Amino acid sequence: MDHQQILGLYTWELGTCFRHPGAGELETTVVQTLRTRLGSVEHIRACPSCVVAMEAKRQRLCEEAGVAYEPGHAGEACEPD
Ligand SMILES: [Zn+2]
Repeated sequence: MDHQQILGLYTWELGTCFRHPGAGELETTVVQTLRTRLGSVEHIRACPSCVVAMEAKRQRLCEEAGVAYEPGHAGEACEPD
């Protein structure tokens, strides 16, 4: 899968990338959803170049863990089903 195909698995909206919030509003996608202690939900968003970097890292971690890698889950851990 090339980068365009991987990025096509995500839904993009304007937002702030968690890896470089100083860059301002960019096309971003939700890579992680956190529930705070107060019960509110916080979305962690990343821009296309960060998603590609996260996917590459996740693929490596999955291979090391012996788990099948599937793109489209950049913010998730590599765990067997
Ligand atoms: Zn980014």
